[in-house]
Amino acid sequence: MRPYNFSAGPAVMPDEVLSQAASEMLDWHGSGMGVMEMSHRGKEFGTIYAQAQADLRELLAVPAHFKLLFMQGGGLAENAIVPLNLSRGETADFVVTGSWSQKSCVEAARYCTAHEAASTKASGHTALAAPATWQLSAKPAYVHICSNETINGVEYHSLPDLKALGCDAPLVVDFSSHVASRPVDWSRVGVAFGGAQKNLGPAGLTLVVVREDLLDRALPICPSAFNYRTVADNESMYNTPPTYSIYIAGLVFQWLKAQGGIAAVEARNIAKANLLYEAIDSSFLYVNRVAKDCRSRMNVPFYLRDESLNDAFLNGARDRGLLQLKGHKSVGGMRASIYNAMPLDGVQALVAYMKDFETQRG
Ligand SMILES: *Cc1c(COP(=O)(O)O)cnc(C)c1O
Repeated sequence: MRPYNFSAGPAVMPDEVLSQAASEMLDWHGSGMGVMEMSHRGKEFGTIYAQAQADLRELLAVPAHFKLLFMQGGGLAENAIVPLNLSRGETADFVVTGSWSQKSCVEAARYCTAHEAASTKASGHTALAAPATWQLSAKPAYVHICSNETINGVEYHSLPDLKALGCDAPLVVDFSSHVASRPVDWSRVGVAFGGAQKNLGPAGLTLVVVREDLLDRALPICPSAFNYRTVADNESMYNTPPTYSIYIAGLVFQWLKAQGGIAAVEARNIAKANLLYEAIDSSFLYVNRVAKDCRSRMNVPFYLRDESLNDAFLNGARDRGLLQLKGHKSVGGMRASIYNAMPLDGVQALVAYMKDFETQRG
């Protein structure tokens, strides 16, 4: 049995997917070629690409008036690509709820006026800002949120309704670290983007879901390979897409369907998160500082009240086959990322270890 891997990303993959990829490494479906060796314009890869697109659209229930783009550059590149495509060089609004939305705001300021409509920095990003308190600008080109802050462990459990706030700008959502862990209310979304390496597959692939009416706003300086219209019109093959990452992500989509789809996966994610948060909240040693109504189901940061025990905790965890629990360097402490591919057994093993460790030090 492999150890349980709690990395925030690149992150755990389903065993079934890795085994299938291994068995197809030298010869994909009798083609005599591995997927890495195929032309992206050939019929074999065309089949892989079309199946991945169809499965993802079905899983996430993406309406027909959105395009699914398979791009490169990750979430950080999208912090530039989004303003290049949507800002028109005007003002875009940012709701800063943690490290990732903060980075998006800073990067966008290179291409447009980036207005911070709200920030939870003063409270250490331990809660979300209620949409009614946002100070939106008069006519933002778009409003950006990060719907799951991977480092701070804060998650929107419903997407904000900009229309209800009297704002008709498109909502841009960085959903890198919880995509496919729960359903998406597309009626509230203009663009959603995410790097694949948290919940969809290997690094290298970036998913961008863009509403069709937003395809034609790019600034003239927008690189052609990053222009949403160009990418959409070329079925993500204006340039060579990350073919192997798309293939693996496609296997993950089939795995998700076999798990019962997003609703079933979400139910398991809720059970996993509840188990871990209950263990933390009922202990004397561990603490999570995020407000209960906006705790992330995917990334659970926690601290030991006695931080001199951190190394002993991590070493003991590794000995028990519980890997990569160290918190992000900017916030310290611990973080357990419990993405779709982390089984309930893994969270149970972590909780059992945490209880044993606490009892031994008690
Ligand atoms: C990981 C992450 C990113 C950055 O992704 P890269 O692929 O490293 O550019 C951006 N936003 C969120 C929410 C993330 O979790």
